[in-house]
Amino acid sequence: MKVLKFGGTSVGSPQRIKHVASLALERGRNIVVLSAMSGTTNSLVEISDYLYKGNIPGAQEILNALEAKYDAVVEELLTTVGARAEALKAIGRSWDLIRGFFARGDRRAPFTAKQEKEILAQGELISTALMVAHLRERGVRAAMLPALSFMRTFDNGEPDMAYIREKLSVLLAQHADAELFITQGFICRDSAGQVANLQRGGSDYSASIIGAVLDLEEIQIWTDIDGMHNNDPRFVEGTRPVGRLHFEEAAELAYFGAKILHPTCVLPAKLHNIPVRLLNTLDPQAPGTLICNTAPDGTIKAIAAKDGITAIKIKSGRMLLAYGFLHKVFETFENHRTSIDMIATSEVGVTVTVDNVERLAAIVDELKNFGTVSVDHDMVILCVVGDLEWHNAGFEARAVAALGDIPIRMISYGGSNYNISMLVRKDDKVEALRRLSANLFPV
Ligand code: ASP
Ligand code: MG
Repeated sequence: MKVLKFGGTSVGSPQRIKHVASLALERGRNIVVLSAMSGTTNSLVEISDYLYKGNIPGAQEILNALEAKYDAVVEELLTTVGARAEALKAIGRSWDLIRGFFARGDRRAPFTAKQEKEILAQGELISTALMVAHLRERGVRAAMLPALSFMRTFDNGEPDMAYIREKLSVLLAQHADAELFITQGFICRDSAGQVANLQRGGSDYSASIIGAVLDLEEIQIWTDIDGMHNNDPRFVEGTRPVGRLHFEEAAELAYFGAKILHPTCVLPAKLHNIPVRLLNTLDPQAPGTLICNTAPDGTIKAIAAKDGITAIKIKSGRMLLAYGFLHKVFETFENHRTSIDMIATSEVGVTVTVDNVERLAAIVDELKNFGTVSVDHDMVILCVVGDLEWHNAGFEARAVAALGDIPIRMISYGGSNYNISMLVRKDDKVEALRRLSANLFPV
């Protein structure tokens, strides 16, 4: 058995829901994880934003538009009067739940994060209800596995794998005659049993967790592109899908900007050694990208870029021959719950990069206790990923040489065997990506 995850655009219209249903059916008795239809989660976030502000008409307007959209989807997707009525009733429960918060969005009872999570859960509840209704109309014995009755996290947000395995196994056994299983990505319950989620884009993570706990044959992530490309096709011409990647390489790429796979998805698959395959709904026969524990050695696989990076330099004479300096620097970031991406050190200074500048002013203020601080905004991390183990001589030189006269603010190499990171100005990003492709992947 496999788990097949289809993202928001893959189920973005009635046509595409039908297409996904066919794709899934051709592949046998598997578990299908669905995202919300594209745009829906964003609309639900927008509704919540209005409710936080107590702007009920604002929320009402978005909800009305959403409701009209889904009325049309039901009309086009389902053919029988009975199935349509049933689907509208199921979806109507979502709208009722959301409207239930409208009355409370005033000063006396402020809208809460807990309520927002309940609202955000509706997108996946609806898309899966529609898929099951459609499959049943096609005469398929489709079983719904409600994510809210098995997907659960601990207080720290980590999935409770033992609990998930136990509940999911029971659910599967209850549907021994099912031809296909459908479940919601993204949504879960927290340790207190409240509706929660695995963060935006978390459906990939849901699929990976399910594949891992059930020790499935493969985790398939279906999107709109034929696998992980060796550079960003939005900026570079002639990019090619990478046939095979090591889990570590995929993790670096996912984290450093390859939008196709959510970074959290890699870990459960890697720990349980379940291969992850990235496939394209628009071209199902294309080989895609296989991510597993073995990948070709001694090659550079891909390049990615991460935008919105800020570099912070802390220079101090006191760092020379002293211990504890880095500890104080890192502790400052920890206190402000800001994670660091890249680090470069010298004997008299250290530069770190962050992508979250919410607490920047406070962080800089505190760092001034330890040294002279300067900040560079609008930077980009370029990340070259492959089997870059240090005995494989020459790769780092080629990566740096490829940039030519583009100024490099900092370089990080040797942290893992799989990446070289270089920090450049945002304005140099596109040219840098092109030069890297031209030099590292010559045609
Ligand atoms: N629907 C959720 C989101 O838009 C989860 C997902 O699509 O992976 O973030
Ligand atoms: Mg996604």
